[in-house]
Amino acid sequence: MQKPRHMLEILLVCSLAAVPLFPSQRPPAEAAKTAEEVLQQAIIIDTHADTPQMMLDEDYDLAQPDSPFMVSIPKMRQGHLGAEFLSIWVQVGWPKQDLIHRALDLIDVVYEQVGRHSDLLGLATTADEIVRLHLQGKFAILLGIEGGHIIQDDLRALDIYYRLGVRYMTLTHTANTEWADSSGDKPKWNGLTDFGKQVVERMNRLGMMVDISHVSDKTFYDTLAVSKAPVIASHSSCRALCDVPRNMTDDMIRALAKNGGVMDINFYSGFLSQAYADAYKKIEKQVETEVAAARARYAQQGKRLPYFEEAKIEQRVTKDLPVPSYTAIADHIDHAVQVGGVEHVGLGSDFDGIDSAPKGMEDVSRLPDLVRELARRGYSEQDLKKILGGNLLRVMRQVEGVSRDMRSAK
Ligand SMILES: [Zn+2]
Ligand SMILES: [Zn+2]
Repeated sequence: MQKPRHMLEILLVCSLAAVPLFPSQRPPAEAAKTAEEVLQQAIIIDTHADTPQMMLDEDYDLAQPDSPFMVSIPKMRQGHLGAEFLSIWVQVGWPKQDLIHRALDLIDVVYEQVGRHSDLLGLATTADEIVRLHLQGKFAILLGIEGGHIIQDDLRALDIYYRLGVRYMTLTHTANTEWADSSGDKPKWNGLTDFGKQVVERMNRLGMMVDISHVSDKTFYDTLAVSKAPVIASHSSCRALCDVPRNMTDDMIRALAKNGGVMDINFYSGFLSQAYADAYKKIEKQVETEVAAARARYAQQGKRLPYFEEAKIEQRVTKDLPVPSYTAIADHIDHAVQVGGVEHVGLGSDFDGIDSAPKGMEDVSRLPDLVRELARRGYSEQDLKKILGGNLLRVMRQVEGVSRDMRSAK
């Protein structure tokens, strides 16, 4: 981003963090040209989408032309997407003995989709493979585990997930694991336990990115103290702009930058907008009650409530909440850049895992509008390429390098 030129601008930067930093910094025609050039050249990487749930439970084919979901091949094409990390997420309430089974089913459907559409998709497991697939005109598909509970407290599960192509894991989801505290739960372990530290060490050795989205603040700092490689937040936004425990404080953003990592901004309305988060809090109980009732109805038939059905209930109950504009994503990017630096920010939409996306960013096809907005705000072509995917490629390469060093040292 260009430096502020006037004292007045510097004051604005310091005092109005939630307001676009340099409105109309670039004239519209020039901004449009910059955006088009970046869209042609950048490898846009989204580090989090929960679409595999839909593939498994709704028999969803990614090539479906009239997809009701946020990620599809036609939408990725329209959105100029280069790579998507598909989340292997298993709900925290899932029967513990079936967690790995469910994760394998989710990985399997991703493989099946990649195989079925091999002319358009390719599975990537390294930064170089993302670049190679992009040069071949294909979309790179990557795998990330969401929730450390899914290893069932067994380090060997990590090894197997790695062999299957999984390249990141969030240490927790919304509940504490047996070895790490979550931001969605009451502290139990004061961060990471000794076994939790072994998990991080094993991930470093394997070359699997350690993902701190969803963890408690203490787990975050413990992880940074232990990890030998830069870490990522695959889908986390800024707490200074929207005060929820899932978002990162400025101090955390600075610490992540010092670690060399990257935070990928989450597009969920309730993580972007304080007004939305506050309004949601007021109806949270109603959402919980309705979801619990639906769960009970399914349980009576011996079934589990699919995520898509849960999202529909959420969408119905939250329909009158004040949905922010997609420019709120750019506000969070501005803030993260201002606090941590342009080398440490990326995109982690959380598409198909959120029941409310901002207006104008309803699905992955809308990404070019975010690029145009950022170009309008004055980011250079080089900085835009970093934010859109370059930073993640850098971190991935560093993680691969640390793994090589650790494996060869022994
Ligand atoms: Zn997710
Ligand atoms: Zn998540």
